[in-house]
Amino acid sequence: MAEELTDTDNMQFVEAIQVTEKKKLCLRCGNNREELFFRSPCSRCNKEECLYCRNCIMMGKITECSKLFFSPSTTSTKHQRSTYLAWKGELSLGQKVASDKLHQAVKDKKDLLLWAVAGSGKTEMMFKGMNEVLINGGRLCVASPRVDVCLELFPRLQQVFPDVEMVCLYGDSADVYNGERFVVATTHQLVRFCEAFDVVFIDEVDAFPYAKDPFLEYAVQKAQLSTGCSIFITATPDRKWQKECDRGKRNFVKVPARYHRKQLPVPKKVWIGDWKKGLQKGNVSKITIQWIRQKLSEGCPVLLFFPEIKVMLQVAIILEKMGFGPLLTVHSADPERKEKVQQMRDGTIRLLCSTTILERGVTFTNVQVGVFGSEGRIFTESALVQISGRAGRKMEYPRGDVLFFHDGVSKNMALAISQIKMMNKLGKRQGLLDEE
Ligand SMILES: [Zn+2]
Ligand SMILES: [Zn+2]
Repeated sequence: MAEELTDTDNMQFVEAIQVTEKKKLCLRCGNNREELFFRSPCSRCNKEECLYCRNCIMMGKITECSKLFFSPSTTSTKHQRSTYLAWKGELSLGQKVASDKLHQAVKDKKDLLLWAVAGSGKTEMMFKGMNEVLINGGRLCVASPRVDVCLELFPRLQQVFPDVEMVCLYGDSADVYNGERFVVATTHQLVRFCEAFDVVFIDEVDAFPYAKDPFLEYAVQKAQLSTGCSIFITATPDRKWQKECDRGKRNFVKVPARYHRKQLPVPKKVWIGDWKKGLQKGNVSKITIQWIRQKLSEGCPVLLFFPEIKVMLQVAIILEKMGFGPLLTVHSADPERKEKVQQMRDGTIRLLCSTTILERGVTFTNVQVGVFGSEGRIFTESALVQISGRAGRKMEYPRGDVLFFHDGVSKNMALAISQIKMMNKLGKRQGLLDEE
């Protein structure tokens, strides 16, 4: 880690594994259980018995000779300016409320959950708060679980803050950290930092891997100064966080409406019976077929989600036989994922079948969305809300179908639909939606 650095003038380091007579502590993952520390020959320090931590070994071996980046609160005055923000755009009413609340949270150094629906324009809501950190000479990090998001965000933020030294860090990025004040990184990269940031912005906090990985939660805590705070951003907080908001136990701001001021499309439930049996006989329900045919004939691209790769491939073959084509299928391990998504964007294909991998982060103009077998367990409440959020995102096409093709309504389907309806209601009440 430390050896990756080229210019270490302003950087400080801290031993990754703290060893005292009585106990050992891995600063990367917080492990202090004696039985989880082992010794092995080390190629870094050449010691025969270099201590390492077993608890966080899946993130790469951390040894007692490794160091973590450490930049204690050295707020320098040399950076101070009245503003760093070069963005001249305008915020919608809903965005402005959130932007102000976030700005205040940064000032008060208070954690905040930014609960903003898909298509609300969350990035712009962060600018003012980010600027606040920078004008006070502080450091900040924007972390996302997905590399694609980091790569998309980085050039955009560079334009918005053109005079701030900025770096983008992810698994195989060529960039090294040289103490830049503004870091865009995958959540996994946070483990390399210790008390380094005044504010950490965590995008898609509900998404893999943050939600399922307690080490990463620890890593976020550790990456920020003890006097710092975190801004958590998501369109779909989990049940626990939703309840904490309801009970006043969590500082949050809700943005229930999209920037284009049209309602979120509410999913419709369409019963298609025992579709598994149908597939065995080579059939896909008529009602699904009719819908796809109609939407394609209207010139709309169609995005179909499936609970499993196997089901997706079965349906794709049937659709192709029926003359629906050209169509493409995409899943997480698909090496051509990016190219296929681009083809759909370019309009060279009109029908894309996907697993939940495309549930977030993609925008296709005027897309119509179907979820086949929506009762499947993989379709959690948040997955279904995210999927529904693919429709109607563009100003020119603010509407779109979202159909749940099912064989029995699941609890998650019901929860997702009521969450979307609740957001629309709130948006109306707050005057964030145009009359339909
Ligand atoms: Zn560890
Ligand atoms: Zn070593």
